Amino acid sequence: MIEARKICLLGDFAVGKTSLVRRFVSNTFGERYLTTVGVKIDTKEIELPANRRMKLVIWDLAGSGSLSAPAKAYVQGSHGFLVVCDGTRKVTLDSSLSLLASVRSLVGEKPAIMLVNKQDLSESWEIEQDSLEPARQRCSAVFSSSAKTGANVERAFAALASVL
Ligand code: GDP
Ligand code: MG
Repeated sequence: MIEARKICLLGDFAVGKTSLVRRFVSNTFGERYLTTVGVKIDTKEIELPANRRMKLVIWDLAGSGSLSAPAKAYVQGSHGFLVVCDGTRKVTLDSSLSLLASVRSLVGEKPAIMLVNKQDLSESWEIEQDSLEPARQRCSAVFSSSAKTGANVERAFAALASVL
């Protein structure tokens, strides 16, 4: 029997949560911004070292810096989190970490991986390595990623799966 694990994407509006899931699940990208309504659930099977297979059940929540009542219900039963901020907007780093703290207070200290997304927009980058120290303390790993180019997307999901 294949193991199934529920993971949730966490992070502020428009940081790229839906785009990262889309890149991971169907290897595509779109420039248009379509606000996620409520929650969207995708699944993908991945292979881990030692021939271990895992089915990731990926919950993409309607993004906001704070936890709405429905979001509180959606995060229940999560095994881990992919926390996303936008490297071109430093405020989204703080809001993603406070969101992670609120979610962990609801569901427990589950593992998390942080993605500093939109790596392809390096000319308008705002987040320096030093400011990622709090993220490094609270997450198993921190990657910069791009849903547009695909950089580090599979790697991040695999890193999360390996610590679930
Ligand atoms: P969400 O609200 O966190 O789900 O964000 P979306 O995935 O809907 O993305 C918000 C906007 O950012 C959309 O216009 C995307 O095309 C764009 N976007 C997402 N990821 C990237 C990325 O890695 N690079 C660039 N350049 N744009 C991105
Ligand atoms: Mg979305």
